[in-house]
Amino acid sequence: MNKKNDNKGNMRFLISRWLRWDKIGTVCVFLRIPVAVILPILTAFLPQLLVSAIEFQWDFLYFVKALLILSSVILILTMMSRFLEARLKEFQAGISMHYAVEMMHKLIHMDYERLESYEGRAQFQRCKKFAFEGEQADGAWSAVRLTGLLTSLLGIVSYSALFGRISIWLLAVILGSCFVELFISSRIIQFGDQTENQMVRGEMEFFYLYRIATQKEIEKDIRLSRAGSWLMKHLKQAENKYMDVMHAYTVQSTRSLGIQVLCTIIRDFSTFGFLVFSVLQGDILASEFLFYFSLVTGFSDWINGISGHIKSLKRIMLECAHYRRFISMPNVQKEGKRIPIDKIENIELRHVYFSYADSIVLRDINLCFRVDENIALVGANGAGKTTLIKLLCGLYQPTEGEILINGISMRDLDLENYYMQISAVFQEYMVLPTNVLCNITLRETNDELKEWEKELGVALNKEATILSGGQKQKMLLARALYKKGSLLILDEPTAALDPLAEEKLYQQYKDLAKDRISIFISHRLSSTQFCDRILLMDNGEIIEEGTHRELMKKNGAYKRMFEEQGHYYQENES
Ligand code: ADP
Repeated sequence: MNKKNDNKGNMRFLISRWLRWDKIGTVCVFLRIPVAVILPILTAFLPQLLVSAIEFQWDFLYFVKALLILSSVILILTMMSRFLEARLKEFQAGISMHYAVEMMHKLIHMDYERLESYEGRAQFQRCKKFAFEGEQADGAWSAVRLTGLLTSLLGIVSYSALFGRISIWLLAVILGSCFVELFISSRIIQFGDQTENQMVRGEMEFFYLYRIATQKEIEKDIRLSRAGSWLMKHLKQAENKYMDVMHAYTVQSTRSLGIQVLCTIIRDFSTFGFLVFSVLQGDILASEFLFYFSLVTGFSDWINGISGHIKSLKRIMLECAHYRRFISMPNVQKEGKRIPIDKIENIELRHVYFSYADSIVLRDINLCFRVDENIALVGANGAGKTTLIKLLCGLYQPTEGEILINGISMRDLDLENYYMQISAVFQEYMVLPTNVLCNITLRETNDELKEWEKELGVALNKEATILSGGQKQKMLLARALYKKGSLLILDEPTAALDPLAEEKLYQQYKDLAKDRISIFISHRLSSTQFCDRILLMDNGEIIEEGTHRELMKKNGAYKRMFEEQGHYYQENES
């Protein structure tokens, strides 16, 4: 069945999660329903009791006993209601956190290629909203809406039974007017939905222009160019467009609200008229009059609540379907034999192709990497270097061709085990909000690492998040080396380093790369001369391969790029 419309399945999913993560909380959540319905009925019964005592001249002791019992029940239920409200908040917070943890777990273990895809990213964004975004994240908020709906339904049934006792016609008038109100409020909601998209678009347009116009950095540009009047003109247009939509919404909802008020007046007048008439006729007692009188407004509250709850639940079911789809996406290891390896000795790529959706990004790549070899991967932006690295790391699988690790196909490897063999420093990195030592070791440890401290030039107990860009880069290098992976990947590792630190890294690189396969990625050719083999990529292909000397001798693309870059860097550095 299409999960989008699988409301039953989504509801089962939500409730099974509540029960799994907070059984007592779930019971409390459902207990709110009878309490919310019974409490106002009993409260309305209190004045009836008082008037009845006078009407029938009850025995004083009997009256006090009845009053005490009723008040105590009301008091207990009121306390219960308060407690259940507080418990609901705790329940919502806990459920949201559990969803967040479940989502994170999936994020860490799911197939990377799926996650990176447009669909995966979009799915993840929606999940975040469902699982953990503020107190009202849908996963937990569904409890409020579902119990709200059930309370309204139970309230309507109970109140109908009570009013039906005095007159079926009165009940018909009340229900009729309430349903007209319900219809109108759902129309307002529908209209709100339709205009919401236009409002959001208008608001975004306005705020985008507003943000640009108020940016400190562009104040100079605004003064020196014609951008100021252009911005003002478009800001005004966006404001008018937005205000038109808002105005239409206000007019429409005011009209609808007028009809709603009319319904309320008709209902209240006919109910009160009927009740007064019944008392005068002697059909009901004055005490009963009081009781029904207090219940009338509650009736419309139950009915009015329904449309909001249903609308919200419909939306939540849709989001829930997205969440379910996300967490059932395949994990890293989809297929294969899961062969573990102790060390990466050699890597071979045979006729490897890779495409993102329809566009081919890598074409017929044939390569071999061996231990103790320093390889540089160079090429202009968009040449395919990062994609090739993702394939080597096992994050993507080739669209065609094969990657062999120690002669074993990557598809048959235990990928989680393979990841453990890789030490990598990427340009987008992760600094954990803890000290430098923990950021290097990625575990709680008492390792001394004194000589590392000297190399890094920062205390290991220092908070890592406050390090400078260059210090962070050094720390990430230390993390990669500490892991002792047999495949070392450094993606532009010198970008944030000062010239001295950069020079030092080149000098030490041979040592760092010893006994490993190491791959150094850079768009700056002068920084890779020391490597044993340079692979020049262009448009998804390896177009030249060799040492710096060999490639310069070849007088081809590498030499051209090297010389062009040489001019550029010299000009910029002078
Ligand atoms: P490099 O690292 O050499 O700059 P990349 O491997 O990042 O190059 O990108 C190679 C090509 O693949 C580029 O044309 C880029 O636009 C495209 N590309 C990269 N990532 C994606 C993606 N997730 N979806 C679609 N195309 C992508």
